[in-house]
Amino acid sequence: MLAAEIIAIGSELLAPDRTDTNSLWLTEKLNRIGIDVKLKTIVGDDDARLEELIKDAVKRSRVVITTGGLGPTEDDITRKVVARALGLRLLLDEKVLNEIRARFQSFGMTMPERNSRQAMVIDGAEILPNPNGTAPGLYLEHEGCSIALFPGPPREMNPMFENHVQSRLEKLAGDLRFARRVLRVAGMGESAVDEKIAPIYTRYENPQTTILFNSSEIEIHLRAHGRTEADAEALLDDLSLKIEEALGNSVFSFRGETMEEVVGRRLSITGFTVAVAESCTGGLIAQRLTNVPGSSKYFTEGVVTYSNESKTRLLGVDKELIREFGAVSQQVARDMARGVRHRAHTDFGLAVTGIAGPDGGTEDKPVGLVYIALADDAHTEHKRLMLPGDRELIRWRASQAALDMLRRRLI
Ligand code: ATP
Ligand code: MG
Repeated sequence: MLAAEIIAIGSELLAPDRTDTNSLWLTEKLNRIGIDVKLKTIVGDDDARLEELIKDAVKRSRVVITTGGLGPTEDDITRKVVARALGLRLLLDEKVLNEIRARFQSFGMTMPERNSRQAMVIDGAEILPNPNGTAPGLYLEHEGCSIALFPGPPREMNPMFENHVQSRLEKLAGDLRFARRVLRVAGMGESAVDEKIAPIYTRYENPQTTILFNSSEIEIHLRAHGRTEADAEALLDDLSLKIEEALGNSVFSFRGETMEEVVGRRLSITGFTVAVAESCTGGLIAQRLTNVPGSSKYFTEGVVTYSNESKTRLLGVDKELIREFGAVSQQVARDMARGVRHRAHTDFGLAVTGIAGPDGGTEDKPVGLVYIALADDAHTEHKRLMLPGDRELIRWRASQAALDMLRRRLI
């Protein structure tokens, strides 16, 4: 597979509040035409470092793309330094110069002298027109490496890539196509997941597998390449099936869908309805469920019963249970689930009660202790969780576990 690298040039990109977004945009474009980005670098307006970088880049990569530093000012060094690194001359291109002059004239201005720098062209390079700015881009083949120099502003760079460079690189890449998939896992730890699936995915170089841990879920990112998109998809089908076999029901999503989307779809298909009673999650479960368009079909209501008194008044939780076992207990969670189901006349009642912290924990009931419960007409199940993390994370994880309990019941 063709390897590319991207070099974002500009000292401003090294500041704490600026991001190099050009390389993200380019990576997406390159991947689509079957080119793999192996390296991205951000370099300041620094002659020596940039020169060294360009020299290395053309040796190790078949495609090198730079963005930024093509402007008219002293700190715009890309043209000059790339020419030096490649041992090529920089020549004044009269045609480009006239175009820049004409551009200024069209705005009723005279071209400042320093803009003539932008008409300096690396010997042998092709000029990429820039209808949205003064700095043209450059494209050249040098010792087996394809090099494109783009201006920094996205509105100048993007059309330049699409109109003048993409099709050339596409030819270079041949027929290779990429496909991507994200599998999501709930109810398992990162190492447990890896233990089960590492023996499987390490056998494959294509697809490539990356495992990410993301607050309450584990994401398995698969990326495959093939002669056609269908070939690449077939490779993903094969590996994701093997992963699903190893992890079972814990895989809840195969196309990057969220938990609430998956639960919503299952409720939609089955025609069941749900109501939610929440304490420590403060409405988060209801919010997540209602984030999904069409949720009115299966979600009727959510109650936030934060105080003991409201648990009794709104859900009919037995006062004695709260006194005896405390509000954070399996007994109360179960009573909440039954209570909300009963009062909402739904098929399911889902409830959460727990201690999100940072205060309020005791030795018996530490921060992170959460009970979730799910009731239907026949029975009620519950689960005790000890969730790590700060308040926000505990709340998120509790909502995820509760939704996952419902998902598993609907399978
Ligand atoms: P100009 O002729 O506009 O000076 P240039 O090629 O010299 O073009 P830079 O001066 O490096 O480009 O950057 C101009 C602007 O483009 C930056 O202020 C920033 O807003 C944007 N830009 C530059 N590089 C990037 C990048 N890698 N990602 C996102 N935006 C960028
Ligand atoms: Mg500039």
